[in-house]
Amino acid sequence: MDQTWRRCSSCKKPLPFAGTHWVCNVSTCNRPRLFLTFCTVSCWDAHLASVRHRDTWAEERKSPTAEFWQKVVNGEENWPPRPVKEKEPAKAEPKVSSGPKVVLRRKSES
Ligand SMILES: [Zn+2]
Ligand SMILES: [Zn+2]
Repeated sequence: MDQTWRRCSSCKKPLPFAGTHWVCNVSTCNRPRLFLTFCTVSCWDAHLASVRHRDTWAEERKSPTAEFWQKVVNGEENWPPRPVKEKEPAKAEPKVSSGPKVVLRRKSES
């Protein structure tokens, strides 16, 4: 099975599945089918020579597993992953853990 997810957008070095890679923070570099990936920060840095970005930085990301990538190919998942919204509604606590815990004490201690 091919362990190469895709190639570095600068040096073309293969990037394996389930590893880490670097991405550009600029949204136009992260389009669903035209996203850029870099093996190192210096490769990302090289990319800046061909584009004009303001306020840019590189972000380390986890590469998808081969299994996940297959879902992306099948259209079941999105890549790049949707950024996690900072204003997420407070996570609902599972009902089980809400309320005081009931501890049954037995008076059979002697
Ligand atoms: Zn590279
Ligand atoms: Zn960029």
